[in-house]
Amino acid sequence: MARCETCGNEYDKTFDVVMDGRRHSFDSFECAVHMLAPVCTHCGCRILGHGVEVDSVLYCCAHCAQEVGAEGVRDRAHSH
Ligand SMILES: [Zn+2]
Ligand SMILES: [Zn+2]
Repeated sequence: MARCETCGNEYDKTFDVVMDGRRHSFDSFECAVHMLAPVCTHCGCRILGHGVEVDSVLYCCAHCAQEVGAEGVRDRAHSH
């Protein structure tokens, strides 16, 4: 029995996500996303896909990266 870090729900089927060496327990993917998914620097949405990283800044897609002037950015998921 573990407790979800996001909503505090005690649940017997929680799962753990290890990120940067820290273990987090959640009862659902929705809670894991809420706590751990990075946020697009441009539009503020949660990045659930590959995302695009430019100069260590994360964007949800190549379009957002280009909106802020990053050049030569391709969507990683579609480049191969
Ligand atoms: Zn939860
Ligand atoms: Zn975005």
